[in-house]
Amino acid sequence: MTGDADLLLQLFHRYGIHAFRLVNGRYAATVATGQCVYLATDHAGSVPLYIRPGRGEVFASTEAKTLARHGGPMGLPVPSARRVRRLAGVYQVPAGTVLAIDLKTGTTDAHRTWAPALSRRIVDEDEAVQSLREVLDTAVRSRLGQDGPPLVVLSGGIDSSGVAALAHRAAGALDTVSMGTETSDEFPQARVVAEHLGSHHRELTLQTSDLLARLPHTIWAAESLDPDIIEYLLPLNSLYGTLKGPQRRILTGYGADIPLAGMHREDRLPDLDSAVAYDMETFDGLNEMSPVLSTMYGHWTTHPYWDREVLDHLVSLEAGLKRRYGRDKWVLRAAMAELLPHETVTRPKLGVHEGSGTTSAFSLILTEHGVPEESVPSAKRQVVQELFDRTVVNGEHPDHVSTWDVVGEVADQLKERRTVPSARRPVGSPQLHAAPAPGLQPAPEGD
Ligand code: ATP
Ligand code: MG
Repeated sequence: MTGDADLLLQLFHRYGIHAFRLVNGRYAATVATGQCVYLATDHAGSVPLYIRPGRGEVFASTEAKTLARHGGPMGLPVPSARRVRRLAGVYQVPAGTVLAIDLKTGTTDAHRTWAPALSRRIVDEDEAVQSLREVLDTAVRSRLGQDGPPLVVLSGGIDSSGVAALAHRAAGALDTVSMGTETSDEFPQARVVAEHLGSHHRELTLQTSDLLARLPHTIWAAESLDPDIIEYLLPLNSLYGTLKGPQRRILTGYGADIPLAGMHREDRLPDLDSAVAYDMETFDGLNEMSPVLSTMYGHWTTHPYWDREVLDHLVSLEAGLKRRYGRDKWVLRAAMAELLPHETVTRPKLGVHEGSGTTSAFSLILTEHGVPEESVPSAKRQVVQELFDRTVVNGEHPDHVSTWDVVGEVADQLKERRTVPSARRPVGSPQLHAAPAPGLQPAPEGD
């Protein structure tokens, strides 16, 4: 066998579409046999996959923008996939799914290959902690690669520190890097971990203006319209762009909060579990883990907490193991207790957008352009939408799109709307507090 593609193909010959139920990986795959084309995503859809099917042909790409400029006929409807907003005829293959397209008839069958667990397991503390340690260790080891020490992007929070500790133990050597801005950083917290592990550690300080200048690049890469997701991804995308040197395989602590409800800062377990169920139901299509965020700068990212086995394990634990003794992500903290300093294990969560000051910097440029405080969330949505239209739909190079110009345009539009009485607004003009425009919409029946 020569590589992953060959392995997948051999599995496919043996198991048909069930091959994709066997594989735990980070991939998008297409297989063509005779008149049928199979398009598959991994369980998390961590490599987005887009298609544009037509009569007797199907175009596929891991980036929607490629298909936007393909031109040609509108294509065939795919009721089992979601249309991509503003890109006529383009659909995104759902996470954990194989689409089988019959080129002769144009019909599509969707086969789910993974779904998040809905049931929860009651296990004792020791068993939950021990099995998490094992499953996470396996996920980290399988992601190390063979070309030198792994690189972990390290905030000093429990998620990335846990990955760093396991990677260090497995590889014997480790590089870590932390990013901050002139307004905010988590350098002292990350340094505690780096010193404890003895990693080769770097600190990178970016200017918030440089960070904001990369907003078009982040949206171009993630092809997401969700402003919260974009705020999370902006500092990371900027960090990947600032890393100098050879191509790296980067491990992150991304995504642990979703199955562990780490963002949920309260004690009631039913609410906690509802948050997990909701987030696991709605993550698809947000493209949080798109590899393009780093491959655009030559680096490969991988996220051990969204390894299929780790995710299955975390999602299915009963909520009382996630929030316990007044601590969030208790089971993870307990699993990492022996490998990390006590202060790291007990440190409360700080999101990358908070730790780097991204959220406040984005809000600030809007208010500086005269957007009132209460309109900032809707203005952010409009800025993200406009940048999506320009870079993804219209194909402008992100280097040629200015965040400040777009912020200025959105602020002016909002000002205009505040001064024009609503009765005189042209028909169809958007409302000031328009509902969020979802990036992906279910394809209507028989579209
Ligand atoms: P952690 O517990 O590791 O802080 P988190 O739950 O706060 O994680 P996010 O803020 O979403 O998660 O960040 C996702 C991942 O991005 C982190 O786990 C880490 O790998 C990386 N990251 C976040 N902030 C930084 C930073 N300031 N410098 C370097 N990497 C970071
Ligand atoms: Mg953090």
